[in-house]
Amino acid sequence: MPTQKNNTCPLYKKCGGCQLQNLTYEEQLEFKQKLEERLLSKFCKVEPIIGMDNPFHYRNKVQAAFGFDKKRNKIISGVYQSGTHRIVPVDSCLIEDKKADEIIVTIRNLMKDFKFQPYNEDTGRGFIRHVLVKRGFSTNQIMVVIVTGTPVFPAKNNFTKALLKKHPEITTIIHNVNPYRTNLVLGNQEKVLYGKGFIEDILCGLTFRISAKSFYQINPTQTEILYNTAIAYAQLTGKETFFDSYCGTGTIGLIAAGKANKVIGVELNRDAVKDAISNAKRNNVENIRFYCADATEFIMDLAHAKEHIDVVMMDPPRAGSTEEFLDAVVTLSPDRVVYVSCNPETLARDLAYITKKGYKVEKIQPVDMFPHTSHVETVVLMSRK
Ligand code: SAH
Repeated sequence: MPTQKNNTCPLYKKCGGCQLQNLTYEEQLEFKQKLEERLLSKFCKVEPIIGMDNPFHYRNKVQAAFGFDKKRNKIISGVYQSGTHRIVPVDSCLIEDKKADEIIVTIRNLMKDFKFQPYNEDTGRGFIRHVLVKRGFSTNQIMVVIVTGTPVFPAKNNFTKALLKKHPEITTIIHNVNPYRTNLVLGNQEKVLYGKGFIEDILCGLTFRISAKSFYQINPTQTEILYNTAIAYAQLTGKETFFDSYCGTGTIGLIAAGKANKVIGVELNRDAVKDAISNAKRNNVENIRFYCADATEFIMDLAHAKEHIDVVMMDPPRAGSTEEFLDAVVTLSPDRVVYVSCNPETLARDLAYITKKGYKVEKIQPVDMFPHTSHVETVVLMSRK
């Protein structure tokens, strides 16, 4: 076991969230570069990874699980030790937003005054289960989501007041109910206790709406670099039809829309699509349409309808894409495919498949979106042979 060189986080081993904290940041970048080269250099030269100038406190979204430490007879909040439901108490974390951490500690302290117990998954008793905080780094708007195991929020007005008194910077507070035995943090029931029920952030000059459930990149500084690289790879001149598959809240497509003729975005998560549509309105982008659909089915329909698409942007989840999706892309036959990947293993698998079907890899750019963790993001440009 290597010694901890950054010598920074006392929870490094217990928490498991920062797998690479035993390395200096330079060594981490080197490690990720080598990993990328091992998996991807067979397709094309891998550009040097783009790291962060300040690789700390970059996470704009922080969530904490609440529980009771019987030995110490006190309420704790923190992260689940990886692979377990045991809570590692965390009051401050090197990669999380400092303000978010402070708010979580405040809520834990307020629980005593309000006699709120943490929710116990086994007995179904107690109240507060998780707290989720999201902050728009550019707008400084802050959302606090209090997730409870039971639906009645006692003294909710007083609690909201007390929390706002300590943190007047909070712009919205949401009560989410999650009574299920599940690994998901959020349940389906949601009530706004204060503010608008969403926050906004600015990325690449556009304003985005972020709700409790919608996906939004957690490191906005590096996200701008990632998106700008991906859009530069698309080589838009203003004439193109740009297809943004797995589009989330529409970020990439909306940023690309100013440089393209027409943009189509497809996403499975209904809340994210709603946010995407409202993001288009908010930014007066008129040449974009969003659809709530399975990306594979949608692209197959486009291919069968013989639609012409110049660029397909794909940003799938960690599991990567599927052969069906890649086959549909090949049938659709766009000039360029830009693949944004958060998992180089599935990326390598997908590239091996699509390069046998008439596409060649032109450029590979790794971006370090998650310093201190083993994750690495990659942008790949492919063109039709
Ligand atoms: N491009 C966006 C989101 C990327 S995350 C951004 O940068 O913000 C991947 C997204 O793919 C998630 O929002 C997820 O809901 C969506 N997704 C997963 N499977 C999908 C499918 N089969 N069809 C369409 N979208 C899917």
